[in-house]
Amino acid sequence: MQCNERTALIFGITGQDGAYLADLLLGQGFAVHGTSRDKENANVSGLRSLAILDRVTLHSTSLSDFHSVASTVRAVAPRYIYNLAAQSSVGLSFDQPVGTINSIMHGTINVMEAIRFLGLDARFYNASSSECFGNTGQLPADEGTQFKPRSPYAVGKAAAFWAVANYREAYGLFACSGLLFNHESPLRPTRYVTQKIVRGALDIAEGRSKVLALGPLDLWRDWGWAPEYVVAMQRMLTLDTPGDFVIATGQSHKLEDFVAGCFQCLNLNWRDHVHSSEAFRRPTDISYSSANPAKAKRLLGWEATVSMPGVIERLLEAEHERRRCAPAP
Ligand code: NAP
Repeated sequence: MQCNERTALIFGITGQDGAYLADLLLGQGFAVHGTSRDKENANVSGLRSLAILDRVTLHSTSLSDFHSVASTVRAVAPRYIYNLAAQSSVGLSFDQPVGTINSIMHGTINVMEAIRFLGLDARFYNASSSECFGNTGQLPADEGTQFKPRSPYAVGKAAAFWAVANYREAYGLFACSGLLFNHESPLRPTRYVTQKIVRGALDIAEGRSKVLALGPLDLWRDWGWAPEYVVAMQRMLTLDTPGDFVIATGQSHKLEDFVAGCFQCLNLNWRDHVHSSEAFRRPTDISYSSANPAKAKRLLGWEATVSMPGVIERLLEAEHERRRCAPAP
């Protein structure tokens, strides 16, 4: 099947990464199509806030339904396909293990099967995750590091990673997995800890509350800036040979330092306000996560320019602006 050379299809366009990727691709002159499970009821606030809602074409598509996926792929016939759709909360995956793993595994395989079934000459990116690595210890994870997933979410992402590798090898599909470490933006909902900290700290600074309750603060993560990370996704699909890439800043920080940095920006001492409770600890969690993104620098010419302090600054600035434009009741 003939593909439309300057057309991209993003499964999960309504999410954080989907919105930034759509913005990037539109800027490069692509026709951008994207899916939501139900476009009539989709949360399109990310697309709206980037002022691109009326520049993308939305399709209602269920990733667990091959007929639905194949119909959308056939109708759009894109050259570039990005699968970002998934139940993406690690915490929620402990409460909904089957739903989470299904959303990740079935979605990935259905998209690749649709490409094969239609004989479409498309290039495929799949959103994998640093969660596949589990605890890395002090040795930063690269593309050869063994997976030791520690959540149902990570189990699903690891299985999908190997499915992508298998389709590449078995069928010659141009398919890449991005092993992305945490990346943040104002488009993240408050369920994610970085937004919870930023909004909670601002509430305290503005006198709306006194205390912020968080889980354990002794976890180490590599935090980057989401708009930069979608550039790496796009570049993977321009390579001569498909492959897998670790995408990260290469700098790990303790969650406590994220909290301290955020409160410090607001001239507050976090110790006066933050309650850290073991009750929020997950059944299993990653205590230390670190990355070596050297391959991305070498082959994609990609390097993160914003690390944790810059992420905090940008999140605070965006939240300030959001409150200025739409003051809370
Ligand atoms: P996100 O904001 O949660 O967006 C994912 C989208 O997937 C949602 O907008 C939703 O769209 C759709 N979705 C939600 N639940 C689903 C389900 N059960 N079945 C099918 N689709 C579902 O995620 P993101 O932060 O943009 O991340 C994009 C991808 O990268 C995800 O696969 C995530 O797991 C992965 N990832 C993210 C990070 C990170 O730090 N952000 C790091 C590593 C990997 P509708 O509700 O409109 O259908």
